[in-house]
Amino acid sequence: MFVRHSALAASSLVCCALVGCAHLASHDAWNPARLQAGLVAATLPQEDGELPDRTEITAGQLVIHADFSLAGQHRLVRELEGLRTDVSQELGLPVSDEPVHLYLFENTERYDAFAARRFPGFPARRAFFVETDTTLSVFAAWQERVAEDLRHETTHGYVHAVVPAVPLWLDEGIAEFFELPRADRGVHRTHVAHLAGRMLEGTWRPDMAKLEALRAAGDLSQDHYAEAWCWVHWLLHTTPERRRILQEYLADVRRDPATAPLSLRLRHECEPHGDPGAAVRDHLAGLAAVTAK
Ligand SMILES: [Zn+2]
Repeated sequence: MFVRHSALAASSLVCCALVGCAHLASHDAWNPARLQAGLVAATLPQEDGELPDRTEITAGQLVIHADFSLAGQHRLVRELEGLRTDVSQELGLPVSDEPVHLYLFENTERYDAFAARRFPGFPARRAFFVETDTTLSVFAAWQERVAEDLRHETTHGYVHAVVPAVPLWLDEGIAEFFELPRADRGVHRTHVAHLAGRMLEGTWRPDMAKLEALRAAGDLSQDHYAEAWCWVHWLLHTTPERRRILQEYLADVRRDPATAPLSLRLRHECEPHGDPGAAVRDHLAGLAAVTAK
C-alpha cells in the first residue's frame, strides 16, 4: 500500500493518492473523508516513543528503525538492500541516494496503535508506504509475513525515489513482482492461480487501458492487482523488446509525468499487428501450466 501526502500543514495538502496492496483484507474503509482525516492525523507532532527507535541500521539507501534488536547482518536486511539493485536493473532505472526509512514495530499491537493514531481512516493492514514532500517511509509490524511485506513496500520506496509519478496500477504491479523471494523470478503463484481461475470462468480479458484509468486505491480489486502483476511479468520476462518498452516508459514518466500512456505505446510500438491482451493471456496460460506441475 502507498500513501502520498504533503508534509506541510493539513490545509496545504497538495495531493494524495492511496494504493491498496494485495494483502489488504478489505478496501471497504477507503473513503475520501476518512482518508482526509488520516492525512491530517499524519501531520500531528510526533510523540515520544511513538516510532521505533531502539535500533537504527543504515543499509544502502535504507535507514531501518526498529524497536527491537535487529542485527545489520540479518538476512532480510541484506535482501532488502540487494533489492535496490534488482529493481534498478530490471526497470532500467538509476539508483537514488534518497533515504527510504523503514519503521519496524516489534509486534502488531504497537504497530496497530501507531497506525490508528496517525492514519485513523485507513483499513487494518500489515504494512504501508508513505511518501511526503520530503520523506519516503515504510511502516510494518514484525510478523510472519514481514519479508514479503517489506519487499513489497521497500520496492515502492525505491521506485518512488526516482519515479515519483509512477502510475498507480504500475506501481502496484511492480511491487507485487518484487515482493516475491528472488528464487521465484517474479512468478507470483497466487496471482497465477487467481487469473487462471478467471480464465476458466471466461471472466478475464486483460486491458491495460482499464488499469490506467484507476485513480483511487478503493478501486483496486484483487483482479486488478493480479492483472497488474501479470502485465509487469509479461513485459519484463518475455522479450527484450517488451522490456525496453517498459524501461523507456518509466524513464519518460520520470522526466514528464504527462507522457503518453503505456497502453498506447504498446499498441503502436510493440504489438502493431497483434493484441497485447491476448499475448498476456497466453503468457498466463503458460505460467499456469508450469506452476501446476
Ligand atoms: Zn503496494
